[in-house]
Amino acid sequence: PPLYMQRYQFVIDYVQTYRPRKVIDFGCAECRLLKKLKFHRNGIQLLVGIDINSVVLVKKMHSLAPLVSDYLQPSDGPFTIELYQGSVTEREPCTRGFDLVTCVELIEHLELEKVESFSEVVFGYMAPGAVIVSTPNAEFNPLLPGLKGFRDCDHKFEWSRDEFQTWAHRVCREYGYSVQFTGVGVGEALGHRRDVGFCTQIGVFQRNFDGINWSMSNAERLEPSVYRLLYKVVY
Ligand code: SAM
Repeated sequence: PPLYMQRYQFVIDYVQTYRPRKVIDFGCAECRLLKKLKFHRNGIQLLVGIDINSVVLVKKMHSLAPLVSDYLQPSDGPFTIELYQGSVTEREPCTRGFDLVTCVELIEHLELEKVESFSEVVFGYMAPGAVIVSTPNAEFNPLLPGLKGFRDCDHKFEWSRDEFQTWAHRVCREYGYSVQFTGVGVGEALGHRRDVGFCTQIGVFQRNFDGINWSMSNAERLEPSVYRLLYKVVY
């Protein structure tokens, strides 16, 4: 399967194993991961997509609308989808108290000096139970035929495994998380055997202490005050 599908599948497998109830996908773009999670929801009750670019969000958001089959089949329990325009460098109170935040191919689109506020907002302020961060592994780039420079012209940086892991370990120290590293996309597929790691590197962060007791039921959920709600559907 193509690399982006492997990244989505990684998240779907995680959701299947750990069964988070409230999930945010940051930088959700055309809502492709959200759409997959909707079909494999495994107990997700609240699924939120956030992107700074409302144009891409609005283009595909109706693909999240309930299908006839959603009405015909007995429901899996309460399920709500919300889409917001907002930036991962801005704090939004209604994004706190989630079980999982995914940032698939997002951080490399931030100016390097903004990565600091990304860390503070996601790990310090939102402080979800778990965070999945994926980003290109720069060490893999020589295996990509014809590639000069970054993989995408909007990328502001691409990190080696060491650079990614150094950032991740610092985040863990500062905000009380543990991290494990993995990835998707392997060099063997291209006929190479050098140890360059995965094409996409992934950090899976777990909050260390359940010191934070959000105890927010959906009913008590705060109204958005910074991000703009663009779409909401209750199944
Ligand atoms: N996660 C999707 C996927 O894997 O298919 C799309 C990733 S796309 C390469 C990066 C997305 O991040 C874009 O849709 C872009 O608008 C969004 N983005 C960039 N900066 C952002 C920010 N500060 N806050 C939220 N989203 C941002």
